[in-house]
Amino acid sequence: MHDVIIAGGGPAGLMLAAELRLHDVDVLVLEREAQPNPAVRSLGLHARSVEVLALRGLLDRFLEHGQRYPAAGRGFAGLEGPAVELDSDHDYVLGIPQPTTDRLLAERAAELGAELRRGVSLDAFEQDADGVDVVLDGGARLRARWLVGCDGGRSTVRRLAGIGFPGEAASTEWLLGEVELDGSVTPEEVARIAAEVRRVHRGFGIGPAGGGLHRAVVPAASLAEDRSVPPTLEEFRTQLRAYAGTDFGVGSPRSITRFTDATRLAERYRAGRVLLAGDAAHVHPPLGGQGLNLGLQDAFDLGWRLAADVAGWAPAGLVDGYEAERRPVAEQVLRLTRAQSELLSPEPGPQAVRQLVGELMQLEPVARALAERISGLGIRYAPPAGDDRDDDPFDLVGRRMRDLPLGDGRRLFDLTHGGRGLLLDGTGTLEAEGWTERVDRVTVAGDDGSALPAPAVLLRPDGRVAWAGDDTASLVRALERWFAAPTGAPL
Ligand SMILES: Cc1cc2nc3c(=O)[nH]c(=O)nc-3n(C[C@H](O)[C@H](O)[C@H](O)COP(=O)(O)OP(=O)(O)OC[C@H]3O[C@@H](n4cnc5c(N)ncnc54)[C@H](O)[C@@H]3O)c2cc1C
Repeated sequence: MHDVIIAGGGPAGLMLAAELRLHDVDVLVLEREAQPNPAVRSLGLHARSVEVLALRGLLDRFLEHGQRYPAAGRGFAGLEGPAVELDSDHDYVLGIPQPTTDRLLAERAAELGAELRRGVSLDAFEQDADGVDVVLDGGARLRARWLVGCDGGRSTVRRLAGIGFPGEAASTEWLLGEVELDGSVTPEEVARIAAEVRRVHRGFGIGPAGGGLHRAVVPAASLAEDRSVPPTLEEFRTQLRAYAGTDFGVGSPRSITRFTDATRLAERYRAGRVLLAGDAAHVHPPLGGQGLNLGLQDAFDLGWRLAADVAGWAPAGLVDGYEAERRPVAEQVLRLTRAQSELLSPEPGPQAVRQLVGELMQLEPVARALAERISGLGIRYAPPAGDDRDDDPFDLVGRRMRDLPLGDGRRLFDLTHGGRGLLLDGTGTLEAEGWTERVDRVTVAGDDGSALPAPAVLLRPDGRVAWAGDDTASLVRALERWFAAPTGAPL
């Protein structure tokens, strides 16, 4: 019996597997495809995802393969406001193609001891009070205490769990190809034609993608009847000719895929011992590059909660807190992408709104509010049911914390790699006994460079503030809330 089976070895599933392995959870990832997906869907990571990588000591290996783009380039439906500086060491977009992100996450999960079984798909499951029996294609059966569906937008797990996926059906479909050009159209002409077509059809694009390839996006002729059938090269060429008057001499595709503007959100993220994360829980048009970021952060929120349950110490409601925190974030992203696709419509109404939004974006607070949403840095989780925000005098609970010097040569993000709780004590006077198995403690020297935003701060394993204050009684309440009753050893 496994502790956790994850269906789907995309970025959400791999990140979750790695997070679970930090806590020695026995995890098996089932991935339907025998080989990694070569299609470059996501082109980059936003600031909060970059911080998540930094929190686990993973950022250097991503930076090696990516390029930092200053946050000034963070547009909204192609509209730009003034550059705003956000409160992060990682206030940039990290340009990195999805196959590289997927590979690095797979390597990380494997290093930590997760098993990724490729070429195997989950076909069915049945659950009871203690676990889930999973049936693979071919009929083999496996059992786990938990099953997590990270199996993408057309999730089998979601369907079999009976979780509804309401929202808007696709109205438009696009073809995305990574292809070689035969040189019959000069690079200058490619750029000129692309700019001209984009004036009318903002969803069109073609440009160099590195490695001698070009990435091209063009609307499809209609919605595919069977979306699991990949588009043909001829279909792709036909659409390029229809929109640009030339097929640019495209050939030798590395990948041609389809995507749509469907916008849907799972009505719940949990059914018994089955959970959803990533695209299995939410789909939306790729405007603003949000989907992978959202899935990565779902996994980051869920991993330590599930690990606590498997270890047997999770306080009541800890696993359900995942949906309570992450579903509203997905709702906001869906609204954000939905709004952007509306602003891209050539119809006069949306065009008038576009002009207005473009003008409002010149106001610094508006540009900042959007940048905080798009980067993920502005996300703040609501307190768990029963908690009161009045019990938060420093207005920090539920927020992420930026990396900080701790006054002893170390920085905050150096201390979070293991995914444990962390008490940053700038008072040196707090007394809390019994949580050493789950929480580390560091005394922060306040007068030589530390910038703690409160006398003391308790961080959850995902870098979120669980408590900020200066008195032992309220600290103990927060420790019990997030890390359960003390086990006896002094902290
Ligand atoms: C054109 C395009 C551009 C995009 N650009 C961006 C961007 O810039 N930034 C961004 O953040 N996001 C972007 N996205 C979205 C991003 O690609 C997805 O949100 C992300 O891949 C979702 O990750 P996931 O792990 O949830 O699902 P997926 O990546 O879809 O992975 C799911 C995996 O599950 C496997 N699977 C499915 N069914 C089963 C089964 N029954 N058993 C076992 N395995 C199964 C699949 O083979 C797949 O490998 C873009 C998407 C598109 C289409």
